[in-house]
Amino acid sequence: MKAKAILKEVAARALLLSAIPFFFRLMFARRGCAILIYHNPKPETLDRHLQYLKRHFSFISLSNLCDAIAAGDGSALSGGKLVLTIDDGRAGNARLIPVFQKHAVYPTIYVCSSIVGTEQLFWWQHEATEALGLERLKRLPNAERLRLLARYDFLKEPEQGPHAALSREEVTALAAVADIQSHTRSHPILTQCDDDTCSAEITGSKSEIEAFTGKPCVDFAYPNGNYSAREIAILKEAGYRSARTCDVGWNGAATDSFRLRGIPIADDASVPWMAVQVTGLSTFLSMHSAVAGAAGCPNTSEFETALARTETNNREVACFARLVA
Ligand SMILES: [Zn+2]
Repeated sequence: MKAKAILKEVAARALLLSAIPFFFRLMFARRGCAILIYHNPKPETLDRHLQYLKRHFSFISLSNLCDAIAAGDGSALSGGKLVLTIDDGRAGNARLIPVFQKHAVYPTIYVCSSIVGTEQLFWWQHEATEALGLERLKRLPNAERLRLLARYDFLKEPEQGPHAALSREEVTALAAVADIQSHTRSHPILTQCDDDTCSAEITGSKSEIEAFTGKPCVDFAYPNGNYSAREIAILKEAGYRSARTCDVGWNGAATDSFRLRGIPIADDASVPWMAVQVTGLSTFLSMHSAVAGAAGCPNTSEFETALARTETNNREVACFARLVA
């Protein structure tokens, strides 16, 4: 283990031993439903995570969450409810089937419909992305991003190596134990697309996934978490019932179903670190430097001092509450 990883592990264990994650879990997670966001966890890692989580929370399906929001039924979402979601449709997801069955969870897997069933790489996995800069590519208008990547022939399927995305057969096998829903066709940053491309990505993926699974495709996850009023309008027009963002927080009966909040979990997180992530605390800390100094918020060093204590004060809780509200 590298020094940084050891430090992170020690910090996570210290946090876990302190009352803070427990406090936040009690205070915030238990008032609503948390949607966990994974991408490509190893089966043994997800197995360990689910073992821990099932001791502290109970899992419901995304449909249960959407039904509770539609009915305005907050009680169905209280008491520590979690929804498991997995983004992209990576090939490794096929190996998770026994884990879903063992723990009796029904996850939602948001797949890119023009990439699953092919040998293509996801665009950010291509060597061109390293050369061009991932964050720079995300900020470019979509047509410009595609023009730059095309110079590297990024759509050409690699001749060897394991496939990056789920095969057609794997999607079919997963559809028996998981809910397969949409993450667009090709994973562009939607807010960088023109209107026609944005519509084609949203409506095209719905019909393609329905053809894949033979079931309705009504739920969506925004690639990279980017969305605006335009994306929401197109989703509604296309007949979707929900869309998950990457905005950190919990979901209650009053949550907008086209702005569902999530909590990102690192695919390779140790159990203690995952436990801290589930509280939202780690994301809060990474966001914190950006908001330090905002009215009433403690600054980073004050918060670090708070972490060293075994409890947190009302001002810190109020600041956290504003961030996740
Ligand atoms: Zn994604």
